[in-house]
Amino acid sequence: MKQDNRKILPAMLCGALGRCPACGEGRLFTRYLKVTDYCGHCGEALHHQRADDAPPYFTIVIAGHLLVPALLVFETVYRPPLWLHAAIWAPITIALCLSLLPRIKGAIVGLQWANHMHGFGNPDEDPAAPGEIEPNL
Ligand SMILES: [Zn+2]
Repeated sequence: MKQDNRKILPAMLCGALGRCPACGEGRLFTRYLKVTDYCGHCGEALHHQRADDAPPYFTIVIAGHLLVPALLVFETVYRPPLWLHAAIWAPITIALCLSLLPRIKGAIVGLQWANHMHGFGNPDEDPAAPGEIEPNL
C-alpha cells in the first residue's frame, strides 16, 4: 500500500531491512547493493535513488566509532602482539562493513523516498524509464 504522507523513520527502517520504503513488503535490492528499479510488490519506482557515496561514508564513520574504541580497550587491557590484532580486527572490520553497507544504503534510499528527493513521488520531475537514465557523472 502506497503512502501519500511519507514518514521518514519508517521509510528508513524499511530500507535498512531491505524492503521497499513505500509498502514495506517488496525487496529493495536485486543484488548486494543493486536497488531494484520497481518494487515487485507495489510497483513503486525506486530507480530514482541517488545514494552515491553516502552509504560508504556512513559505514566508515559507524564502523570506525565502534571498532577503534574496542581496539584501544583490547590493546590497553591485554597488550596482544600486532599479529593478533590483525588476526582479530581485520575480519571483524570486513564483516561489520559488509553487513552495514546495504543497511545504510537502504536507509538512505528510504530517506530519499520519504523526502521526495531525486524524482521520488513526482513523475513529472523525472519521467525517464530506468534504461534511459544517464549516469550522474
Ligand atoms: Zn513496494
